[in-house]
Amino acid sequence: MADAYKLDCESEAGDCRFIVQSEDETEAIELAKKHMREGHGQDYSDDELREEHLQVV
Ligand SMILES: [Zn+2]
Repeated sequence: MADAYKLDCESEAGDCRFIVQSEDETEAIELAKKHMREGHGQDYSDDELREEHLQVV
């Protein structure tokens, strides 16, 4: 089974239940970035998301 990239927003922002999961790292980062901006008004760079927030599952 391929690895998947996952961002569980609940672990970042307590009351948010948003989860991104994709086998495509680029797509996972795009979705996570969009959610962080639209849902939380926070801008993360691709590198920040990849290094600090994405989990490989
Ligand atoms: Zn969120």
